[in-house]
Amino acid sequence: SFLQQFLTNSSSTEWVSSQSTAAEAFVTLATTDSYCMGATVVARSLRRHGTTRHIVAMITPNVSEQLALNDVFDEVIVVDVMDSEDYHHLCLLGRPELGITFTKIHCWTLTQYSKCVFLDADTLVLCNVDELFDRDELSAAPDPGWPDCFNSGVFVFRPSLHTHTSLLHHASRHGSVHDNTRLHGLRINWEILCVGFVSVLLVLQPQLDMLELQVCSCRFGHGAKIIHFLGADKPWSSQGNSSYSHNMEQFVSLWWKEYLIHTVSSAPAVQPKQEQKKPQ
Ligand code: UDP
Ligand code: MN
Repeated sequence: SFLQQFLTNSSSTEWVSSQSTAAEAFVTLATTDSYCMGATVVARSLRRHGTTRHIVAMITPNVSEQLALNDVFDEVIVVDVMDSEDYHHLCLLGRPELGITFTKIHCWTLTQYSKCVFLDADTLVLCNVDELFDRDELSAAPDPGWPDCFNSGVFVFRPSLHTHTSLLHHASRHGSVHDNTRLHGLRINWEILCVGFVSVLLVLQPQLDMLELQVCSCRFGHGAKIIHFLGADKPWSSQGNSSYSHNMEQFVSLWWKEYLIHTVSSAPAVQPKQEQKKPQ
């Protein structure tokens, strides 16, 4: 099966031969300037909690925030939304809009790293999560909507060109990667990250009835280490948005705090404030 193939391939010599020298990295993706706001917070929150790993952003050429990202990321890698091979696959699928999914799959090409943790740009890290590197490919949290699938907002993986190609082939053959977040149909054997590691905050907005559903994979929301703002409403699109519950609002505020600290600390406008500091 693909699963067997996947597991065999990912533990093949290609990986073993490089592991002694390769570093490990957190990786995120931003294909628009708004998602760059999220990516910035991902990097800042990782640094705040003292990660020892590299922090890498994959961006697309249209992103204008590249210079700003250079300040917070160890490496900013420009990838095409779809390379020619992806485009061919997407055309076969008749699903050209799947470009962003395929862009995410590009993370497997980062073979300068032996192991990586992918974080969606809409995640917020609450404490040091370097322990994720003790986990193996592929570790992820269950998807709140499809518990038998993993949620691709946070996952541990091993870069491998072979796996990258397999994933693209599998996706194009089965046509079941149906949105930009869940690698449905890949049927990768995933290990569940310890309960509560990733807290998924989900806002469901059915057409008629606005329903907010907060799903915490940990009981009562305690112990979450990463918050994933799953769904259409992102923290950066929701300043002053009252549709969030109090519980969720606190994480949205925390997100803004992290974002503004970054923005303010790099802007010259902060100078007068510093000058107001009481002399010692
Ligand atoms: N993404 C992006 N540009 C987009 C949409 C998505 O860069 O226009 C990236 C970003 O890293 C994002 C991830 O793909 O976090 C998955 O999309 P999103 O988080 O919006 O999906 P959700 O988690 O809400 O299902
Ligand atoms: Mn997400």
